[in-house]
Amino acid sequence: MGETRDNDAYEEELLDYEDEEEKVLNSASKVNGDADKKGYVGIHSSGFRDFLLKPELLRAIIDSGFEHPSEVQHECIPQAILGMDVICQAKSGMGKTAVFVLSTLQQIEPVAGQVVSLVLCHTRELAYQICHEFERFSTYLPDIKVAVFYGGVNNKIHKDLLKNECPHIVVGTPGRILALARDKDLPLKNVRHFILDECDKMLESLDMRRDVQEIFKLTPHDKQVMMFSATLSKEIRPVCKKFMQDPMEIYVDEAKLTLHGLVQHYIKLSETEKNRKLNDLLDALDFNQVVIFVKSVNRAAELNKLLVDCNFPSICIHSGMSQEERLMRYKSFKEGHKRILVATDLVGRGIDIERVNIVINYDMPDSADTYLHRVGRAGRFGTKGLAITFVSSASDSDILNQVQARFEVDIKELPEQIDTSTYMPS
Ligand code: ADP
Repeated sequence: MGETRDNDAYEEELLDYEDEEEKVLNSASKVNGDADKKGYVGIHSSGFRDFLLKPELLRAIIDSGFEHPSEVQHECIPQAILGMDVICQAKSGMGKTAVFVLSTLQQIEPVAGQVVSLVLCHTRELAYQICHEFERFSTYLPDIKVAVFYGGVNNKIHKDLLKNECPHIVVGTPGRILALARDKDLPLKNVRHFILDECDKMLESLDMRRDVQEIFKLTPHDKQVMMFSATLSKEIRPVCKKFMQDPMEIYVDEAKLTLHGLVQHYIKLSETEKNRKLNDLLDALDFNQVVIFVKSVNRAAELNKLLVDCNFPSICIHSGMSQEERLMRYKSFKEGHKRILVATDLVGRGIDIERVNIVINYDMPDSADTYLHRVGRAGRFGTKGLAITFVSSASDSDILNQVQARFEVDIKELPEQIDTSTYMPS
């Protein structure tokens, strides 16, 4: 329906489903003073032991090589494991996923045939990644079953899985989850934890918001709601909070959103000089893996072809491909079979690929938010990284200026020589 309607009217209708909504909004408390004041130091000195997690979880954390919780983990986990609602904005790559994965696994007591946790996110790649995180941290909790559901996979496979091996934790994209719930294949009446990752992305698009809301309404009233993103504008926060009751709110000061370990530069050039320049950069720079962002499906395919023709180990992902193909390519890049990924903004959010230490904006992103999500693919969890942005028009310069003003960063022109040690992991 929404298309012909004016957004405000539609928004009102979407939000108007809870009698208590005003009360909820007014009583939302802000308990995160610290996160705002301290800036974002990244790693916190306390240990995961201090959270008094199940021994099986602690063991998996140690296996994963996590030594200390990051600041966002330190702020959120103690409250989240008590079942509190949480709305959390924290920098890309600082471990938001582990916040909801660990706090969910800590709380659930698996009952056969009951889905107790539902995690929604906006792309299949992210759903797959989140499911993987649940599997990793539940290694020593073999009774807990997790499964991932997204479009593009044969419906029957999903229906059979739900019937024969109903998971306790369901991760998925809204369209497929809603379809399965509507068909009564996915039982939502026992859901105790409802989680939205990249929540601003999911609630800003009215189509997706409508699906999320419909799913939400199929879950019991009494449950924990947690939402996460690196970007949470002032406009979207009240929308998120309508789903929650007295949430703990963690917001990072926007000026502190860019990553400490990330070196950022731009290059001014004309459109026709981009390919030559990219070639030179890929030859000259040391990198483990690099993601090159472009603005359209065609440009992704063309640029990738060009790179492959020049013998670069490149692969591309864009929305013009089948879901299966996309996921296969994503896995292949994540596993390190290719070192260069040409992509549209599909993989600009949430995706965590450890080896990526350079991001190149071949085309300027459409907004400061998108810039932040894209460059956040490098320099994850306190590691070093380099972001290079091509600026080829007046509107590109405008966006770069918006990025600099909003995140209080001074992005300088790429120097002739760049010291490898500033962006390569030591
Ligand atoms: P975000 O969701 O905030 O963008 P992720 O949850 O994807 O970030 O985490 C980024 C990377 O950091 C992942 O590879 C994750 O395994 C790793 N990570 C998260 N928490 C810790 C920790 N406490 N110690 C070490 N690595 C961590």
